[in-house]
Amino acid sequence: MFEGLTGRLGDIFDKLRRRGALTEEDVSAALREVRVAMLEADVALPVVKQFVTQVKERAVGQEVLKSVTPGQQVIKIVHDNLVEMLGEGAEINLNAAAPVPILMVGLQGSGKTTSTAKIALRLKTKDRKKVLMASLDVRRPAAQEQLKVLGEQTGVATLPIVPGQDPVAIAKRAIETGRLEGYDVVMLDTAGRLAIDEELMAEVAAVRDATKPVETLLVADAMTGQDAVTVATNFNDKVGITGIVLTRIDGDARGGAALSMRQITGKPIKLLGVGEKIDALEPFHPDRIAGRILG
Ligand code: GDP
Repeated sequence: MFEGLTGRLGDIFDKLRRRGALTEEDVSAALREVRVAMLEADVALPVVKQFVTQVKERAVGQEVLKSVTPGQQVIKIVHDNLVEMLGEGAEINLNAAAPVPILMVGLQGSGKTTSTAKIALRLKTKDRKKVLMASLDVRRPAAQEQLKVLGEQTGVATLPIVPGQDPVAIAKRAIETGRLEGYDVVMLDTAGRLAIDEELMAEVAAVRDATKPVETLLVADAMTGQDAVTVATNFNDKVGITGIVLTRIDGDARGGAALSMRQITGKPIKLLGVGEKIDALEPFHPDRIAGRILG
């Protein structure tokens, strides 16, 4: 991480190091580089501005300029501030009476159904929970079937498909089945759309009201960059999310979406999707994403 950052800001900090003492202008020049690196990593502009202001205040406030190794100190402040803004990861909250409802929301293609199955498998193997999954996607006939196949692959139960039910009815049936059959957790995979629309939000909100989920996890593709901000803002305002699952971290995304979504919603990034395989799910470590952003 530090090599990456030093590499990125290499020239500028090399000069700084040789010189020993730093001026406020030197720090400003370094922060301009940081700003470019963050924008290239798809961090939203307001978040970049906030970040640079914070780093500047800390760099000047801590008398870094008078220290023996000011260059390194600035690098450390940049890194620490980024890790702080990314926040800690968090476990899935299961603190409620069983069956605990978990609502999965997000755009179509974000990796929602795959992540539902990944999380179910994790809860089953790591936490020894009895999990029931249900697909509420009645628009794409293949969606409910897709979750059923994933259930068979992972050995996690899926709610039997009953054609003709609407999403709220399926959700209620899932909770009822969970209660009657002694499940610990019921995971509800809502329908996605290619873009945010009122109808999607109203549908997800209706499911939320009918099931009172303990977790509402927004699944978002790390590769979407700036769009991730719009998606996160909309879902958080209209449905209310409790955490974020960031997928396609195995791709070449620069990680900016993670910082923007965290800052704009204030909600923790809980898990990372790191591949197509069903066990490719990892806890979130701010250090690693910080490394990607500063490259
Ligand atoms: P949904 O429409 O949001 O339910 O998306 P799906 O779960 O059907 O996923 C869409 C595609 O993305 C599938 O081909 C998944 O295998 C793939 N996918 C999901 N998560 C990841 C991930 O973390 N990394 C990679 N490389 N592919 C993923």
